[in-house]
Amino acid sequence: MGYVDEVLELVSKKNADQPEFLQAVTEVLNTLRPVVDANEELYRSNAILERITEPDRVLMFRVPWVDDKGQVQVNRGFRVQFNNAIGPYKGGLRLHPSVNLGIIKFLGFEQVFKNSLTSLPIGGGKGGSDFDPKGKSDREIMAFCQSFMTELCKYIGADVDVPAGDIGTGAREIGFMFGQYKRIRGTYEGVLTGKGLSYGGSLARTEATGYGLLYITEELMKCHGDSLEGKTIAVSGAGNVAIYAIQKAQQLGAKVVTCSDSTGWIYDPEGIDVELLREVKEVKRARLTEYAAARKSAEYHEKKNGEHGVWSVKCDIALPCATQNELDLEDAKQLVANGVKAVCEGANMPTTLEATEYFQNNGVMFICGKAANAGGVATSALEMSQNSERLSWTFEEVDAKLKNIMVNIYHNIDDAAKRYGMEGNYVAGANIAGFEKVVNAMLAQGVY
Ligand code: NDP
Repeated sequence: MGYVDEVLELVSKKNADQPEFLQAVTEVLNTLRPVVDANEELYRSNAILERITEPDRVLMFRVPWVDDKGQVQVNRGFRVQFNNAIGPYKGGLRLHPSVNLGIIKFLGFEQVFKNSLTSLPIGGGKGGSDFDPKGKSDREIMAFCQSFMTELCKYIGADVDVPAGDIGTGAREIGFMFGQYKRIRGTYEGVLTGKGLSYGGSLARTEATGYGLLYITEELMKCHGDSLEGKTIAVSGAGNVAIYAIQKAQQLGAKVVTCSDSTGWIYDPEGIDVELLREVKEVKRARLTEYAAARKSAEYHEKKNGEHGVWSVKCDIALPCATQNELDLEDAKQLVANGVKAVCEGANMPTTLEATEYFQNNGVMFICGKAANAGGVATSALEMSQNSERLSWTFEEVDAKLKNIMVNIYHNIDDAAKRYGMEGNYVAGANIAGFEKVVNAMLAQGVY
């Protein structure tokens, strides 16, 4: 049995109850086969694959807080510090009832490679809680965030581990957590990113993941003699990533005709009204039914199991921006039948392994989230730089750096795929390019 297969078997045995983590490890290790084969002796004797699939540490803790009725509630908090070979741990905090250890580990593992791809000095980590922010008052959100940070603050710091936002964690939650960190630790430092502008946040961080997704998609099209001009795009999600992906797509001349949330989806043949969408989802935190009610051209569809939702709509480009495993094999078949040319992931692992393979085998250009959504964490690293030098850059400066980073990521993953004879396989290219840098740093730093 080869080294990759041995480690896959070992990881499967040790983490049998963590399907998302196993999915992420299987995808990455399978695409690394040519690199591992070329360096087998070195990697095997240093147990590189065993070390890279085992987090540095896993923190799991109780988060008690008091709701508006005076009742004590208890959630479970997580922080997985996966790998800090190339910089302090960095990765978001997810607040969603589906959160469990396997999901946080899959996200932390992916983050290691993604952060490496940005070319910035950041290691990989991820955290969160099974707390559901939906329907909670601002005071309840604050109570939860303060309790969460009361424990988490023992393990993080500007040079140690710098968490950020993710599903369910936006500027409001980051603000409450930053305040609590400062109160307990007594230091004013860049310990979180995604902060408000008045206390150390970076311009363009809010837009960064969605904008970055479109910059890399634009470069992909350009390098294939095409552009975004006049293209029809299907987007899923209606959160931070989706909203700014839609905005940038429109600025670049494309028409986005769909978006979705956890209960339903919108088809708007005139093109999504992004200002209205922001008002409904960002400002009012309401459902998409409100968007449909305010917009004549929009059709609202309830989410139904077994239906393709936004992926049933004819489009040139699909950008999944909601959550993991939201685009399966049947959705992929529908998209291919409808003539989709490119799929770029705004969310983390939104496409199942089978769907990814189907796209790749049917001539669809596919860029995985590790590369395509790296603009968020890259701009978080730019926020860390600004915090360290106690300066704020202009929106244009940050946006230009972001664009440059995304264009470079595209060329790095394209080159890595070509180097190993897999031209056009951007999943392999992303995994290989991200992996090589981390492994070189691990080898240089000795056994730890
Ligand atoms: P938000 O919480 O802002 O938005 C998430 C969106 O996805 C919402 O529209 C939400 O619907 C929908 N959604 C969440 N869970 C489900 C589900 N189980 N089924 C269907 N729809 C769901 O999160 P973000 O936009 O920040 O994150 C979206 C994705 O992008 C995640 O995979 C995240 O990890 C990834 N990502 C985010 C980055 C960032 O900078 N924010 C950076 C890199 C990756 P509803 O409104 O009903 O909750």
